[in-house]
Amino acid sequence: MLSVRTREAFLPYCLPMIGEEEIAEVVDSLRSGWVTTGPKTKRFEEEFAQYVGSEHAIAVNSCTAGLHVSLAALGIGPGDEVIVPTMTFCATANVVVHLGAKPVIVDVEGPSLEISTEAIRRAITPRTKAIMPVHYAGQAADLDEILAIGAEHGIPVIEDGAHAAGTIYKGRKIGTHGKAVSFSFYATKNLTTGEGGMITTNDAEYAARMRLLSLHGMSKDAWKRYTQAGSWYYEVVAPGYKVNMTDIAAALGLHQLRRLDSFNRRRAEIGAMFDAVLGPLGVFTLPVRLPDRNHVLHLYPVQIRPGTLRIGRDEFIEELKQANIGASVHFIPLHRHPFYRDQFGYRPGQFPAAERCYEGLLSLPLYPKMTGDDADDVMAAVTEIVDKHRL
Ligand SMILES: *Cc1c(COP(=O)(O)O)cnc(C)c1O
Repeated sequence: MLSVRTREAFLPYCLPMIGEEEIAEVVDSLRSGWVTTGPKTKRFEEEFAQYVGSEHAIAVNSCTAGLHVSLAALGIGPGDEVIVPTMTFCATANVVVHLGAKPVIVDVEGPSLEISTEAIRRAITPRTKAIMPVHYAGQAADLDEILAIGAEHGIPVIEDGAHAAGTIYKGRKIGTHGKAVSFSFYATKNLTTGEGGMITTNDAEYAARMRLLSLHGMSKDAWKRYTQAGSWYYEVVAPGYKVNMTDIAAALGLHQLRRLDSFNRRRAEIGAMFDAVLGPLGVFTLPVRLPDRNHVLHLYPVQIRPGTLRIGRDEFIEELKQANIGASVHFIPLHRHPFYRDQFGYRPGQFPAAERCYEGLLSLPLYPKMTGDDADDVMAAVTEIVDKHRL
């Protein structure tokens, strides 16, 4: 039996897991004088590339920047279209807008909340210049099918891998399936550097272009400028961006990467407990497990089934808060946001699969820093709220 107790302290929706090694490494960077891009960033890139099995990795200051640079390096601009799923964070589409191109929003498959490959097919036009799947919640989208569509039309697949550090699809880690993948190391992600991101690719020329664009468009290995090996001379060959990673962030990343698999194992353990206790309540659609891939449970999103409770999602989250438990929603579908509605004419109801799921969608706290008691408290509170409001 789960003991029902009212938590004394609020359980935040998410907390990072920062260890003494990370702290010592950051202090080492501060004492060394290398606070911006330097040797630790380079080492983090090498180790991350090795982890995902990619030939190249470019460290940047966010996943958003990674996506921006990957699209810019393809030359995407006004008149072009990029296909994105509606069930994602706004960054996926915002970067398309930043380049003057049009984000073509499509629906998701259904309860897995992965991008619909049928919808991708229907959305392709002669102007489509990239397809951007999101590996929702830490499980891979249907990459074989998406890559086949891309290959058929000569359109590159640029993956939003913000949730997918450690995600495996058909025996291979996310990082090399599409033309490029961007990972996020934001505070809430499975691996965090506070703020940060990484682009991986197997294409040397494309990698060089992205690296150039990530640091002002400077043609030299610019970070070496201040070492004895470096030179003062550089040339600007493109109006690049300023999105390089700092060594302070990389210091965190080096140790987070070493612990990533154990973090993800702990996520799986908590996820299995949640599945076992919340499934039998008969109220929720739990995170769907698709074949041939793992799930690193960046999120644990559940969907309240219609007609099971007297309350809706918003009240459910409110009651969790009363029980001192934080929850969130991933995501408000892109097409419902005023900017995307007004600028591109999207409207509520346009993507029925996403809307149906969104209606009852909420993410429960699940992260390696949670204790067993914390996880018990989440399950107890959810069970109690369900029992109270069951139809
Ligand atoms: C977090 C997130 C991003 C943005 O990551 P940043 O590192 O904060 O820029 C992009 N896409 C998705 C799906 C995300 O969840």
